[in-house]
Amino acid sequence: MSRHASAIVKRMQFNNLLIIASVTLVMTTLLSVLMYVDAKKEQVARAETLAHLLVQNLQPALLFQDDTMLQQGLSVLSQQHEILNAQIYDVQGVLRNAYRHPDSRVLAAPKFVLNDYQNNWLELWSRLYTVMPVRNVAANGELLGQLVLTTDMAEPREEILFEIASIFFIGLCSFLVMAYRLQKLAEPMEAMLTSMRRVMPAHDETIGLPVKQRKDIGDITDVFNAMVVEIEQRDAALSLELAQRKAAEAQLEITAKYDVVTRLPNRHAFNSEIELAYKRFVAAHSNFALMFIDLDNFKYVNDNFGHNAGDLLLLSVGERIRHLLRAEDFVARIGGDEFVVIVHNFSELEQVSRIAEKIIEQLRKPFVLGENEAFIGASIGITTCPKHCAVFSELVRQADSAMYLAKKMGKNNFQYFHDGLAADVEARVKMEGELRHALERHEIAAHYQPIVSLHNQHIIGFEALLRWTLEDGTIIEPEQFVPLAEEIGLIADIGGFVLDQAIAQTKIWQALHPDIYTAVNFSPRQFRDRRLAGKLLETLSKADLAARHIEMEITESVLMKNTADSIALLKELHAAGMHIAIDDFGTGYSSLSYLTQFPAHKLKIDKSFVAKLPHDTQALAIVTAIVGLAHALNLTVVAEGIETQAQLESLQKLGCQLGQGFLFSKAMTAELASDMLTHRVALVA
Ligand code: C2E
Ligand code: MG
Ligand code: MG
Repeated sequence: MSRHASAIVKRMQFNNLLIIASVTLVMTTLLSVLMYVDAKKEQVARAETLAHLLVQNLQPALLFQDDTMLQQGLSVLSQQHEILNAQIYDVQGVLRNAYRHPDSRVLAAPKFVLNDYQNNWLELWSRLYTVMPVRNVAANGELLGQLVLTTDMAEPREEILFEIASIFFIGLCSFLVMAYRLQKLAEPMEAMLTSMRRVMPAHDETIGLPVKQRKDIGDITDVFNAMVVEIEQRDAALSLELAQRKAAEAQLEITAKYDVVTRLPNRHAFNSEIELAYKRFVAAHSNFALMFIDLDNFKYVNDNFGHNAGDLLLLSVGERIRHLLRAEDFVARIGGDEFVVIVHNFSELEQVSRIAEKIIEQLRKPFVLGENEAFIGASIGITTCPKHCAVFSELVRQADSAMYLAKKMGKNNFQYFHDGLAADVEARVKMEGELRHALERHEIAAHYQPIVSLHNQHIIGFEALLRWTLEDGTIIEPEQFVPLAEEIGLIADIGGFVLDQAIAQTKIWQALHPDIYTAVNFSPRQFRDRRLAGKLLETLSKADLAARHIEMEITESVLMKNTADSIALLKELHAAGMHIAIDDFGTGYSSLSYLTQFPAHKLKIDKSFVAKLPHDTQALAIVTAIVGLAHALNLTVVAEGIETQAQLESLQKLGCQLGQGFLFSKAMTAELASDMLTHRVALVA
């Protein structure tokens, strides 16, 4: 037991001893007194009874002054061993006779005056005196004398002493048992104090409540106070740490769930969301669509305008998509230029398609990044649940494959996942491999579609259009393989090939038809080559063909994507005498400002508008506007895709000068084109 605890325990033991000792003492005294009183009563009663009997026997002997009878009367006392002696006095107080127990050393009792005698306590402790009057019963109780009995109190005294010793012994035993129990009780208290002391650091006397009245309680107070202070300090440190940890956790949660650049949820958050959507589907059959969006051209923006601009662009993309969605839908950025959208509870697939269309439309619009303007696009793959969610874990892969297909389909479009998609993708991969060898195998050829004057239907030129004929005779349309060629970097070779073919062919035609020209399509990718104009003019000069015999067809996207460089390149070609036509006019950004900035000669009205003529008022209005604009800017208008006489007449009425379409001729081989040229010109002539 330690120094600190012993004080309190010792104190407790001392108190215990004191209490038990006091109790034992009080009890012993009380019991002794009670027993003494009891014993006295008993002894007095016994002695009086005996005296009474004796007095009755002795009364006649005393009346008749018969000493022998008195002697005999007293001798019965020899049976009573506790009677030490007895004296009988007459009425004059003269001792008439006496008895003494053989063992008694007490000779005689003192002489008492009758009726004056009272037993006193002290006497009673060693011996008891009983004084009894002897009366004449026959003569009205006349007093004859008195009997004095001396009773020995040794026996009851020993009895009392024994009982007192017993009580004292019991008291002692209780004390020992209590002391032992207290010791046992003190042990856990000591353990408690020790552990409290361990909780507190160095014993600091200045800390604590102002309680220090008693050493024992003071010990506990000290330890307790120190412990309370320590707990308070630890509490404060703990709550500070907790607050810091909570703040860090909140920050961590944000970083764990949100993308820093777009502030949209990240891949991790997306995984939870898609799982939740699936659970909702299982529980309540609520459907959902998953869209995988991949930006087209993002790398170009990043490489040319810098990463800050790239980040700004991603932020705007996120905002544009978010604005298109309902509050319950979900959008996340899950990778570099990859976003996902979850459309919850759509009513019909059409609704999902509309959202995809809107996203594509929004992302095609220019992005202002500081001083720059950037153009990107989006390819979207979509999968839907419950149609395709039999295997939940496959959902993301499905949307990804559909997106891959959308990319292969020429970007800026969306594709739904379907069961044959894998085969489609495989077919495209196969096509990619074959396209790489198509040129050397001479599978690709330039076909020519006549461009006629709508005024007299004379052939005034041709448009060179690519055709890819496979070994088995299958013809693949340029819309299928041109985007693929762009993507795998083959478009420069293919473009060069068409140009060579067109120049060589036009050179031949030009001999007979001095004003003939051939329009050649150029894809935006070809404009990345800064030496394009130089190479083109060099090829022309090698073939000895004037630049005016070749017309360059470009789409609006060329102008939007490579503004400054493109304008310089086009100006160079224009200066050399080459004509430039804007293809598919009306379907692109239709920003008219660029028309005044670079040298265009022609606008080619997209066939989608022509197809709706003459009845569709909207198409009519667009065509009318394009023709009006062209006239105002002094540009020639070419209508594509004229298939009917009605379309032709309508276009003629609107003042469209040139046209091409199946009404006149499809694209055909150089040979057939040459024949037609000869035939038609000859015919018209
Ligand atoms: P484009 O330059 O707008 O070519 C016109 C397209 O309309 C051609 O499709 C042509 O066959 C088609 N067409 C002409 N008249 C009609 C008609 O009356 N009705 C209909 N429905 N269609 C008609 P094609 O040959 O499939 O070419 C598609 C696109 O592929 C071209 O559109 C062009 O953008 C691209 N392309 C073709 N050849 C080349 C090329 O050598 N280089 C590049 N970069 N792109 C090419
Ligand atoms: Mg064209
Ligand atoms: Mg076109």
